[in-house]
Amino acid sequence: SSFKELGVCEQLLEACDNLGWKTPSKIQALVLPHAFEGKDLIGLAQTGSGKTGAFAIPILQSLLENPQAFYACVLSPTRELAIQIAEQFEALGSGIGVKCTVLVGGVDQVQQSISLGKRPHIIVATPGRLVDHLSNTKGFSLRTLKYLVLDEADRLLNEDFEKVLDDILSAIPRERKTYLYSATMTKKVQKLQRACLRNPVKIEA
Ligand code: AMP
Repeated sequence: SSFKELGVCEQLLEACDNLGWKTPSKIQALVLPHAFEGKDLIGLAQTGSGKTGAFAIPILQSLLENPQAFYACVLSPTRELAIQIAEQFEALGSGIGVKCTVLVGGVDQVQQSISLGKRPHIIVATPGRLVDHLSNTKGFSLRTLKYLVLDEADRLLNEDFEKVLDDILSAIPRERKTYLYSATMTKKVQKLQRACLRNPVKIEA
């Protein structure tokens, strides 16, 4: 099937075309119809599968209908992955004025606070630095968040982020959509899934 047949809107079809994404990857083809129906999702997929597009496209399509600051937050286990995710959001969202910010450790927190002051639509963060900003950056909250993505959840949990994840979950609305992506389904991931997702559809690609 094509991106169009899966329900991708004109503006994002153009963005995919500009990126040279001619046909959906397997995970994208399986995930997008459920995502457009508003389901929570568990995706078992590796890096290189196109999983970033599988969560970025439905988030951006929803954002287009209802443009709002702090619309979605993607949690990543590492800085490098966070930057790559943000680059894909920016590439897909460039034609539609999407503002994206990366919050990771090892980078000046003041600059990050300034960029939060510009009220980005999308935040891509490592959990520790996100929590730092939730407690230290005046005027920043995630109380209006519509989407939470837990990317590479198995690695997120390996890095001992469990306590920090609890703090994040208590700072965001229960009424939201949640996408969890993981390469493996471990006991800890299942526990996180039960804490974060509502009647999720499970997709393996
Ligand atoms: P990911 O698995 O999300 O890290 O994506 C891996 C790479 O595949 C990235 O460089 C994407 O730009 C690229 N990609 C994602 N979706 C598609 C697609 N449908 N067609 C071609 N390339 C894609």
